Amino acid sequence: MVIETMNNLRVVFLGPPGSGKGSQAVFVKRRHNIAHISTGDLLREAVKSGSPLGLQVADLMEQGSLVPDNLVLNLIAERLGGQNDSQGFLLDGFPRSLNQAEGLNQILAESQLPLTFVLHLDIAQEAVVKRLSGRRTCIACGRIFNVYFNPPKKGSCDDCNDEPELMQRSDDNEESIKHRLNVYDQQTKPLLDFYEDLGLLRTVDASGTVEQIAQDVERAIQKEIASTG
Ligand code: ADP
Ligand code: ZN
Repeated sequence: MVIETMNNLRVVFLGPPGSGKGSQAVFVKRRHNIAHISTGDLLREAVKSGSPLGLQVADLMEQGSLVPDNLVLNLIAERLGGQNDSQGFLLDGFPRSLNQAEGLNQILAESQLPLTFVLHLDIAQEAVVKRLSGRRTCIACGRIFNVYFNPPKKGSCDDCNDEPELMQRSDDNEESIKHRLNVYDQQTKPLLDFYEDLGLLRTVDASGTVEQIAQDVERAIQKEIASTG
């Protein structure tokens, strides 16, 4: 596949926890040189730093509940406001509710930067539980591994020296995983229709390997580039 890059690509990744949004985002960000904006990462940083926002959201995150819409919308408005208009972005984990999607549309309309499209990473809920419970993240570089499907080759992170710890997220336990999947069903799934109605929804099968999904994601992006000329 000949890859054309689109550095003003503005895309939302939509899919349940464990669908691979974060893993795929890293590839797309590198290939197209766009910003990767993950509300989960931004919120986890806030929690780690002990900021007022972090204190407010820590418990909700650990349970796997959504943090209040206005907090994430402020976070996103601030992050997008500091963004160079000519550089695209990939939103990962946002929006997650109809309120957030409407808020995002307003922010983007004001800056006259409409979304290029919304990519749905489609996968059955049963399939994501093992992905989530097996997920480990390198504390040094953030690379994501999975003890069942994608284990590190040398015990610690393959990309780092000094054997940094691979940590498990505190919300990747059985109870929070179940709750996050319910939250996705009830609050986030309606966004599929919302974006379908706007003519923005594209779907890829997210049940395969990281490499297979990466190919399909790139194919969807290339199709979009070809059609927008
Ligand atoms: P995952 O997709 O695996 O659930 P994320 O890193 O995207 O993980 O999100 C982790 C947690 O952060 C969520 O369960 C929720 O508590 C909070 N969070 C992230 N993004 C949002 C959002 N857009 N709205 C509300 N809460 C969010
Ligand atoms: Zn690493």
